[in-house]
Amino acid sequence: MERYKPIIQFVQGLSLVLIVQVFDACGQTNSSHLTDKKMETNEKSIHKTEEEWKKQLSQEQYYVLRQKGTEDPYSGTLLLNKEKGVYKCVACGNELFTDDMKFDSHCGWPSFDREITGGKIKTLEDNSHGMHRIEIQCAKCGGHLGHLFDDGPTKTGLRYCVNSLSLEFVNEKDIKKTVSTDGLQSTIDTITLGGGCFWCVEAVYEMLEGVQKVESGFSGGKTKNPSYKEVCTGTTGHAEVVQITYDTTKTSLEEILKIFFTVHDPTTLNRQGADVGTQYRSVVFYRNEKQKQIIESIVGALQKENVYAKPVVTEVTPFQTFYKAENYHQNYYNMNKEEPYCQMVIQPKIEKFEKVFKNKIKK
Ligand SMILES: [Zn+2]
Repeated sequence: MERYKPIIQFVQGLSLVLIVQVFDACGQTNSSHLTDKKMETNEKSIHKTEEEWKKQLSQEQYYVLRQKGTEDPYSGTLLLNKEKGVYKCVACGNELFTDDMKFDSHCGWPSFDREITGGKIKTLEDNSHGMHRIEIQCAKCGGHLGHLFDDGPTKTGLRYCVNSLSLEFVNEKDIKKTVSTDGLQSTIDTITLGGGCFWCVEAVYEMLEGVQKVESGFSGGKTKNPSYKEVCTGTTGHAEVVQITYDTTKTSLEEILKIFFTVHDPTTLNRQGADVGTQYRSVVFYRNEKQKQIIESIVGALQKENVYAKPVVTEVTPFQTFYKAENYHQNYYNMNKEEPYCQMVIQPKIEKFEKVFKNKIKK
């Protein structure tokens, strides 16, 4: 237990940052004609150097958002998404569309017939590739989204043709709206962590007060919809991860990370105990700048304070996609408590958690 003491002391000293995402009410349709579209915006704009964008975005996201690239048709993860929720700019979190604006255009890219009002999207003439088109950009960060056409089949007559890579989707189920003085705010946030075998990590977070949902899956690799078997080969690039949805009024990213750095060993490269391979790497996938800052400051402090005998090798990487693992991996520990692996490997981690975080356990 000795080696965990400094972390606990360290994190106790951290001031709690409440991670709050501002959620506007769904807007009305915008002007119904392309050329009338207002160019002004009331969003505070974000300016970053290309180096900064390269650091924040994945290579594919950078290609689309900053170099005006286009993802391959039918390749986007949000193309067939029919869940209820909000589509945000993946680079800056600007809320652009809601699920009721999406329609099936059969063009290979997510399509919307209108945008959330308030000048969140700006339009520009695009005469590249021998065509005359209207480019659409995020008004807040200038990120390329796609194009706007006037051949939409709905009442608005518009088709916002958008790259999945430019968007982040936030499921309505994960949004809890609470009324505050400045309107509607979400107190729900999500983080994706890899700390070796996901059965172990999931079991611990299931017990944490404030956690609404923990899912086991894969992230950080190239293979689409990988199976557990494929990930086990170590060739997909994916890490075994858990995706945690939590209420920021009851727990915090700091607390989640404190537990993360207690129940796994962040100093063994591509390895946790007897599990060896890049799929067992220690990694945190951040969704926005706020999360990134919190994670980096904690990792930095762990290094600086020499909390561990060896350097921390935890990767801090932008989140791209989470693939949920097969159903039999979900809630594995609770379903298979009698198995030797659960008793020998997972049980000790749970006991450690129970001991150190006694007052944080769900009632
Ligand atoms: Zn943006």
